[in-house]
Amino acid sequence: MQPIIIVHGGAGDIPTSRVQGKLDGIRVAVRAGYEVLKKGGTSLDAVEAAVVAMEKDENFNAGYGSVLNLRGEVEMEASIMSGTKLDVGAVTLIKDFLHPISIAHKVLTDSPHSLLGGEGAKLFALEKGFKTVPPESLISENAKNALDKFLKHGEFGRTEIGTKDEGGVGTVGAVAIDANGHVAVATSTGGMSGKAVGRIGDTPQIGSGTYADDNIGGVSTTGHGESILKYCVAHAIVKLMENGLDACTATTNAINGMTSRLNNTAGAISLSNKGDVGVHFSSNRMAWAYVKNNKVIYGIDQGQVLEESYDEKKN
Ligand code: ASP
Repeated sequence: MQPIIIVHGGAGDIPTSRVQGKLDGIRVAVRAGYEVLKKGGTSLDAVEAAVVAMEKDENFNAGYGSVLNLRGEVEMEASIMSGTKLDVGAVTLIKDFLHPISIAHKVLTDSPHSLLGGEGAKLFALEKGFKTVPPESLISENAKNALDKFLKHGEFGRTEIGTKDEGGVGTVGAVAIDANGHVAVATSTGGMSGKAVGRIGDTPQIGSGTYADDNIGGVSTTGHGESILKYCVAHAIVKLMENGLDACTATTNAINGMTSRLNNTAGAISLSNKGDVGVHFSSNRMAWAYVKNNKVIYGIDQGQVLEESYDEKKN
């Protein structure tokens, strides 16, 4: 099987000033994931590598650069799934680690549980050798400004980050299939700007933010978390594919279905287990990129499809 990976960098009202940083960041991320696949690595390691690249990058709402809760703190969540045996790992309410996705991956491999939160997730991470970082080191200027604006005139949940002006960072995700045909998906987020302390969104919830099944395909979602989780968007897309829709139609139908039913926006990326690609968002923008046949295909605006050769280092 020809390996393939697709990533997203969050759906929402992304201001023009934030577009280039996101386009650069998703191409770095998709290349990081594809390198793993090219060397014969697993899809699980590839999606982790892609998400790690975006967790480090302040252009995205994950890891460093995560949005802030009402108390001005970063509280992150992440999930990862392997489609081979439907193994999952997820963490939520993580405050002082740079890479929640790597902790989620450890939950998948080393814990009898699926989802660990808060203090328990921290204890698990420490036991497994993850190093804490000072929580302030995860806070970017943009995230602070976004919270300030949100506190002045935000309306919770209407956009990924609360305000149109300072928005433009986004939840991140990746879906990959390796040479052995194994599907894996990873998703990581700081949630929504101005969220209540302790709020848990769609991202760490299997079936909402993330789903993978080798027999069908994989999906990672982004957007209005409370709506995504009510509609179980990731699982909905996988089920539409199981019932015969191609990845693109399944993704479009589920996202549009959620938006018309719940009046909030979202986006998703998907792959069928044959390697067909689905990208759809009902928000103004969503950064996405995939590598297939030595080409990087990417975009951020509605209808935009850009292309560069994989060997050309544009970023
Ligand atoms: N879905 C995320 C959440 O609600 C936010 C996003 O995707 O931008 O936590």
